[in-house]
Amino acid sequence: MSRIAVLGAGTMGHGIAHAALSAGYETQLFDVTESVLERGRAAFAAIVAKGVELGRASAADGDAMLSRLRTATDLAEVLREADFVIEAAPEQIDLKLRLFGEIERLAPKHAVVTSNTSALSITEMAATLSDPSRVAGMHFFNPVHKMKLVEIVRALHTSQQTIDVVSEVAGKMGKETVLVKESPGFVTTRVNATIGNEAFYMLMEGVASARDIDKALKLGLNHPMGPFELVDLVGLDTRLSILEYLHRSLGEKYRPCPLLVEYVKDGRLGRKVGKGVYEYPSRSL
Ligand code: NAD
Repeated sequence: MSRIAVLGAGTMGHGIAHAALSAGYETQLFDVTESVLERGRAAFAAIVAKGVELGRASAADGDAMLSRLRTATDLAEVLREADFVIEAAPEQIDLKLRLFGEIERLAPKHAVVTSNTSALSITEMAATLSDPSRVAGMHFFNPVHKMKLVEIVRALHTSQQTIDVVSEVAGKMGKETVLVKESPGFVTTRVNATIGNEAFYMLMEGVASARDIDKALKLGLNHPMGPFELVDLVGLDTRLSILEYLHRSLGEKYRPCPLLVEYVKDGRLGRKVGKGVYEYPSRSL
């Protein structure tokens, strides 16, 4: 187990690639165009630079790390010798199923295949492989280099050997793990989406202002971030699609709050566009 392929160089993929390289794995990062890969490389470089600035690595180590990151837009090249695949493509089941079909075709048959999905069915993705026992969920958190947890998801056919390999890789990346049976939203996404949705209902009902709801959860319940600060980071569109999925699969309790739906329609998608529940001057983006 020495080569990791990370598919998708977006918000999560570049951080996962950083964790994989830091753990000593040969790491290849794939995305669909050179320009997205370039953005991923820049974000990766920013994490490395911060580590150097904080004295966690020397400038020479930082440079070595940057030179070791391999990126490509050719999926066959990235998968050809991979021992371990981490899929971090957009949260759309059709896209992920197509990508898993390509993994089946292009990656070695011994490779362990994981998805960083926040909520979708790992069993459904695994069904596209002739051997679904080598597939598991590997759910990282944002930002990957700061967040300690990886939620490991055991799908219907995931073997114990696969769980052991995923645990080992996560451990080498310096992460703590929890093991979760496949279920929509696993543990963290389901709880988080519920709290976030409830916060939107309270805002809509005029129970308190957004600032006070955030302050209440931070200072009264010891949450490190308020639910609105967090949804602005995650993206309101991402949160809405997760809630729609939980609503479809788990029932009425998860119906997205109309205020969240309205914000998304209005283009208030969070920090990434400078405006979500709160507004962000460009320098804090
Ligand atoms: P993102 O949109 O920032 O990045 C996704 C990347 O995948 C983009 O760079 C896109 O160009 C690329 N891509 C598009 N088509 C592709 C394909 N066919 N193959 C490979 N890559 C392709 O999304 P993200 O926030 O990084 O989310 C990725 C996954 O991680 C999703 O499943 C999401 O649910 C999950 N996740 C996200 C967060 C978060 O806070 N953003 C947290 C945990 C898990």
